[in-house]
Amino acid sequence: MKATQLYAPTLRESPAEAELISHKLMYRAGLIRKAAGGLYSYLPLGWRTMKKIMQIIREEMDAKGGQEIMMPIVQPAEMWQESGRWAVYGDEMMRLKDRHGREFALGPTHEEMVTTLIRDEVRSYKQLPLMLYQIQNKYRDEIRPRFGLMRSREFVMKDLYSFDRDVEGMNISYEKMYDAYSRVFTRCGLKFRAVEADNGAIGGGHSHEFTVLAPSGESSIAYCEACDYAASDEKAELKIIPAEPEELRPLEKVKTPYCHTIELVKNFLKVPIEKTIKAVAFMDDDERLIVTFVRGDHEVNEIKVINAVEGANHLYMAGDKLIEAAGSVAGFMSPIGLKDSAIVVVDQSVMLMSNAVAGANEVDAHFINVTPSRDFDAEKIIVADIRMVQAGDPCPHCGAPLHMTRGIEVGQVFTLGKKYSETLHATFLDEDGKVKPFEMGCYGIGVGRTMAAAIEQNNDEDGIIWPRAIAPFEVVVVPVNAKDDAQLSFAKKIYAELIAAGVDTLLDDRRERAGVKFKDCDLIGYPLRVTISPKTLDSGNVEVKVRRSGELMNFGRDECVEKILALLRTL
Ligand code: ATP
Ligand code: MG
Repeated sequence: MKATQLYAPTLRESPAEAELISHKLMYRAGLIRKAAGGLYSYLPLGWRTMKKIMQIIREEMDAKGGQEIMMPIVQPAEMWQESGRWAVYGDEMMRLKDRHGREFALGPTHEEMVTTLIRDEVRSYKQLPLMLYQIQNKYRDEIRPRFGLMRSREFVMKDLYSFDRDVEGMNISYEKMYDAYSRVFTRCGLKFRAVEADNGAIGGGHSHEFTVLAPSGESSIAYCEACDYAASDEKAELKIIPAEPEELRPLEKVKTPYCHTIELVKNFLKVPIEKTIKAVAFMDDDERLIVTFVRGDHEVNEIKVINAVEGANHLYMAGDKLIEAAGSVAGFMSPIGLKDSAIVVVDQSVMLMSNAVAGANEVDAHFINVTPSRDFDAEKIIVADIRMVQAGDPCPHCGAPLHMTRGIEVGQVFTLGKKYSETLHATFLDEDGKVKPFEMGCYGIGVGRTMAAAIEQNNDEDGIIWPRAIAPFEVVVVPVNAKDDAQLSFAKKIYAELIAAGVDTLLDDRRERAGVKFKDCDLIGYPLRVTISPKTLDSGNVEVKVRRSGELMNFGRDECVEKILALLRTL
């Protein structure tokens, strides 16, 4: 393609609202334009990259037996009412009515649609397993659409749904998709981790989030470099580290005037923070007091607390009155002597402590020499893993120190089990003559978010640095002065040879100053730039610049196409 025929408006400035580098660069490089909050048009360069990502996804889905279909975006309310999600999906669902007043939604996801699609026609185990997918716009009225394509209200998603006879089959489909996702993101040139994720409301099954590592990401993850363990910080498990045995001293109450924080207590009693026990008091929806205890240098993980306490759904900070009613006082709480109205949850690592400091349930007093295994009433407490993982904690799989990082969720795989097949009565006749609901899985990739994540991971002060596989063009050929016929025709020949060799090439034949063209090349981020200058005409050598390293190379006329092909293979 020729740049004179390409609609690629580049800008010096990015919109004020753009916070993320990917958002800024997508604007400046002319990949997208905004229509309204969370709604974007893709311009030719942006759409070329989107199509390359979609093509990689298609190839990997097809390789695992996925079959591409296309379902309606406009979905009748009835199927959502049947599954029970019409009421619970909330404001995120974009709803509309037709001229007869019938209700519809713009699909945020397609479990209902695909399950009702196949339920009347897939009747036998012989038709299983079945994997159907589509690549299509999805609609979610996000509370805060932001970061450009990262969190928009209309976005392109690949969604695949698997149908199996039994759990074993479902797990095989899951493994296949897990593998396909790893291949997709590897081929896109991304550094990512498959992170063990909370299955949320779906419950029971497995789920992994494919997370691209980037400091700007919204997810916080713990990962191990020695093995492939990675989990969201909410989910990361902790290994118990046995404590050094110590001679136990008798429990004693001491005065600690004004010491209502761990920091103050530790300084006043001159003990290391690892020897203190910290209390955090919550209230749940039923106004029950839940008091949690972790080591002074640890933080409470509310999700783990919710999982540890039966019936707890949400946690709020507990007020002083509730704490006083349980016979204690904020800033000085401990399990020793707390009334039964409090639900006490103690982190597993606290139970290994000895001769520690904890509150005494009265103002300006603490216990010293607390040994939880001796001093806490085991009948009245819940012991569980309730703390947040921290950098340096041992990996639960191999024991090496964990790292913490932030990341962008670009895809997620789920096992759904019978959740939708049961509510929507989608069954088949198994070999044993029994009618059974399908075991399902669902698997999504955000195409635009993947493009944005790739830019987050690959840029410098001059612009985007595309991984070759998803670059809008792999190579740009730039005659320094396109008004010079000799340069232009030299450039055209190289361009034609590259195209003939199968390289996705752009010829920058614009009659712009060289500086302007070079700046655009760097901003847009083509992996290789081939420059045709007066020097080229003299020497016969073409100059090739590698966008990522900035390296300049000179290749002779005869060898240059071959050398460029070899160079591309390394990118
Ligand atoms: P998030 O937690 O970020 O809101 P999600 O878990 O709700 O996402 P899924 O339902 O798992 O998203 O959707 C599959 C994929 O679709 C996500 O992994 C993500 O890449 C993409 N996606 C989801 N919501 C958006 C959005 N608002 N804008 C762009 N891409 C999105
Ligand atoms: Mg998700």
